[in-house]
Amino acid sequence: MDTGIRIDIERLRQDILELGEIGATEEGGVSRPSFSKADLEAREWLKDRFRSAGLELRVDGAGNIFGRMPGEGRTVMAGSHIDSVINGGKFDGPAGVLSALECLRRIREERIPVSKPLEVAAFTDEEGNLVGDFLGSRAFTGTLVREALEKNLTQFGVPLKDILKNTEYSLDSILQAAADRPELEAFLELHIEQGPVLETEERSIGIVDAIAGKNYWMCCLTGKAGHAGTTPFELRQDAFLGLADFALKSTQYVATQHYGSMLTFGRVQLYPGTFSIVPGCAEFTMDFRSTSEETLQELKKTLTSKALDTAMTRGLTFNAKTMDETEPVRTPERLLKLLKDTSEQLGYPYLTLPSGAGHDAQILSSVTDSAMIFIPCENGVSHSPQENILWEDLEKGTDLLLHALVQLAE
Ligand SMILES: [Zn+2]
Repeated sequence: MDTGIRIDIERLRQDILELGEIGATEEGGVSRPSFSKADLEAREWLKDRFRSAGLELRVDGAGNIFGRMPGEGRTVMAGSHIDSVINGGKFDGPAGVLSALECLRRIREERIPVSKPLEVAAFTDEEGNLVGDFLGSRAFTGTLVREALEKNLTQFGVPLKDILKNTEYSLDSILQAAADRPELEAFLELHIEQGPVLETEERSIGIVDAIAGKNYWMCCLTGKAGHAGTTPFELRQDAFLGLADFALKSTQYVATQHYGSMLTFGRVQLYPGTFSIVPGCAEFTMDFRSTSEETLQELKKTLTSKALDTAMTRGLTFNAKTMDETEPVRTPERLLKLLKDTSEQLGYPYLTLPSGAGHDAQILSSVTDSAMIFIPCENGVSHSPQENILWEDLEKGTDLLLHALVQLAE
């Protein structure tokens, strides 16, 4: 379906640039973690935008912000987040919230007939600056665990409840947020790709067919510290060499046996950590992801057995603790078809691709059918002040979002 109606890219551009001023950094990016001073200001700005668009404003106990066009039946929702990583970019998140807002404005202005309620959503702390990724969407779907909110420290070194003191929210209100959730018909999220594929393939639109699930493991290989000058090689229990060996073998295994799945060792700390001592302990993080649940299960088993094997041959012990975990999701066929058909009708060529990064849409898929529209970002760069897009790509992506929303809310 093509209504002939198009979104107003100039108005959307102004919104994105204006929001990008709040928490702007010298390097040209933004630092706007949830519940920071900049975020609190951005929230007021967004609420004001929702009100001036004639939407009914609602904020739940997790600080998720919704702007609603009333209707009959289940709610069709679109959105993303407005928080950012420290020194991140202007587009990761805001592109999805403000494009959804622009769609609702156009539907109202043009009096496009829809019967179901429509909502634009901005979810709290998608970036996980506080206690794990997706605080807001996890609260919204009722999948948070009180213990994790109480026990884990935020990346600012203080508990979540201390950060909440500057706000009207509490652990209780966050844990009760799901009670405010309307019955949903579907959730759509427009987002920058955060990778180089669309730009390389010269497509303005990506239709996401699956979002990878991930595991964050905190691991430790423990051996024995020894003098670097006097401990012969054959008597060493060198934790670093064990880690190096394991990292190479396991990466090779994932790359050859499960190409498309990912494994990353993002942080390594050696103890005691000095020139003259053989490392007795190597602490490291592992991040592994796949769009297949079966592969994720296989990776858990094989990576553990490879680590144990390496540990045994080198006289070490291996321990791992799961810090965070999400499940892979596949986009439901009816939404994939809707997005593909609509893209074709609008005359916008698209590429179907998986998302290696996690998104609110992945969390929402536990309560409703969810789908994502990607637009390219310059050089694939994201989570950086250099994050940039072409406005014409955002225009096409938002036109697609508009037409998909109209059909879902018919
Ligand atoms: Zn994002």
